[in-house]
Amino acid sequence: MTTDARTLLPPQLRVFVRDWLSSNNILLKSRDGHVLIDSGFTRHAPLTLALLSSPQGIGDEPLAKLFNTHCHSDHMGGNAAVQARYACAVVLPQGEAPLIASWEEKALLLGYCDQHVDRFRVDGIMKPGETLLWGDLEWRAIAAPGHDMAALVFYNPEHRILVSGDALWENGYGIVMPPEVDPAALPAARATLEMIARLDVRVVIPGHGEPFTDVRAALNRSLQRTDALQADALRNARHVLKSLLMFALLDKRGIALADLPDYLDRV
Ligand SMILES: [Zn+2]
Repeated sequence: MTTDARTLLPPQLRVFVRDWLSSNNILLKSRDGHVLIDSGFTRHAPLTLALLSSPQGIGDEPLAKLFNTHCHSDHMGGNAAVQARYACAVVLPQGEAPLIASWEEKALLLGYCDQHVDRFRVDGIMKPGETLLWGDLEWRAIAAPGHDMAALVFYNPEHRILVSGDALWENGYGIVMPPEVDPAALPAARATLEMIARLDVRVVIPGHGEPFTDVRAALNRSLQRTDALQADALRNARHVLKSLLMFALLDKRGIALADLPDYLDRV
């Protein structure tokens, strides 16, 4: 199914599938100005810039705007570098903008999770329900709380494409805070999956992994996973910790085993 998915995408839409540390980068080309959705992880910004300026990207042409599905370090880590290179406007989901404007690292889960993001300038916001014109196509911004309570997904009804960020992957979705941290998060993740199920989607471009077409199966897997997490809060808490540690290990390419207890304590 995954090989079919890319052939269903219009030619002005390019997807750079990255590794799991960086989010995918989605490029929409248009004579009215090229736009990029998500900029990947901070440390991988050189590769993000190289992909963007490649012949498969925009070459020497300017980038007009950069949008983020949500403001985690693997999606906005390259924002500062992309903005520095192209002097492009950065546009964020409405709910994320105040945190970024004041750069509250704890609230951004940056200091909290020992992740670094270079600061960038915010030039605009997107609201749920708004229609955006990217790559000569209309995209509806839809609220997709759960993994990130202010996240947006983007839906194009003409080609039935959903840019899902970390709200839906082919196998699961981004970590969701346990009820002790945010009691609204898991129910919101479920409601977001149910919202996606009501859309007529042919291709999902997820925040991580290849674009896919078997949307029904992916939704079923994620709904089952949500059931399991809701039934077992401890399991979810363990999963969140494990995921954050995995992320740190990928980032630092390994932490000496002897340093691990100290590291966990500190972070
Ligand atoms: Zn992500």
